[in-house]
Amino acid sequence: MSFQMKPYPEWSWSLSRDQMFHACKRQYFYHYYASHGGWLLTAAPEAQIAYRLKKLTNLYLVLGEAVHTAAQKLIDLRERSQAYPTQDQIVTYIRNTLNAAFQESKQRERWWGYPKQYTMLHEMYYEGELPRDRVDAVGSRISVCAEHLLASDSWQEIRDSGDITVLEVEKLKDFIVNDEKIYVKLDVLYRRGDGTYVITDWKTGKVSEKNEEQLWLYALYIHEYYGVPIEQIEIRTEYLLDGICVRSTPDEDNIMMIQHKIKASLQSMKSYLDDTYYNRPLPVERFAGAGDPSVCRFCNFRQICPEKQ
Ligand code: SF4
Repeated sequence: MSFQMKPYPEWSWSLSRDQMFHACKRQYFYHYYASHGGWLLTAAPEAQIAYRLKKLTNLYLVLGEAVHTAAQKLIDLRERSQAYPTQDQIVTYIRNTLNAAFQESKQRERWWGYPKQYTMLHEMYYEGELPRDRVDAVGSRISVCAEHLLASDSWQEIRDSGDITVLEVEKLKDFIVNDEKIYVKLDVLYRRGDGTYVITDWKTGKVSEKNEEQLWLYALYIHEYYGVPIEQIEIRTEYLLDGICVRSTPDEDNIMMIQHKIKASLQSMKSYLDDTYYNRPLPVERFAGAGDPSVCRFCNFRQICPEKQ
């Protein structure tokens, strides 16, 4: 029996999907619909291009991913009772990851043939080089993030407490809200000996209040998936650039707010569907552009978007 790909992607909801939907409807269309099946050599050229553009990354994202991987490895070593790397070793790992991304980005044709295996930086794809100021900005964050990761409240607690059970590290999970599948990926989830479930979110960017909704969503997930009472959940954002740990305990209002947000977001997204059963979108022209040059400037789909500013 041969594998037959569905003409439209499976429907699902995530906070990042909601954020893109609000930032630019056209970008949302390219990312979630136009790129579908573009990994196949038999796909239409438009889908192949959209899929490759969707895979573009940038220096800040590569830095963030490298720091997350370093944190993941630390926890993995703790689970296996093995020695931890030094700060210098972590710095070297992050630097090498960024260098590899730069080197791979020089080989455009190879990336085009294997977009899942190789990295292409947005900066290299659209500008042909790395802007000096961005290289300096990202470079200056490497050792700061490594130092603050090792000194963070969460890592020190995980490393030093004997009664910690690590439950999830960077695992894509789903749960159901309003009969819809919701995807989440927690950086770290662990349970302390006193029964508190701690969610840790590593951030390599500046301190922001926009992170709250994400953490409430995570708390809702813990509550629904593990059946944990809300008052037994602690959420933390470890801002590794500033070395600040922001802690909070969600309450019933926070949970209701995020439930309400999911419901409203689902309704808005579905109003852009021609057929909700097949997840078939309205025609592309119905997905308006952002109308904001500052959004278009960093968009992956500039090459194919007639709406760009
Ligand atoms: S280029 Fe601008 S208008 Fe076009 S998809 Fe990207 S953000 Fe939206």
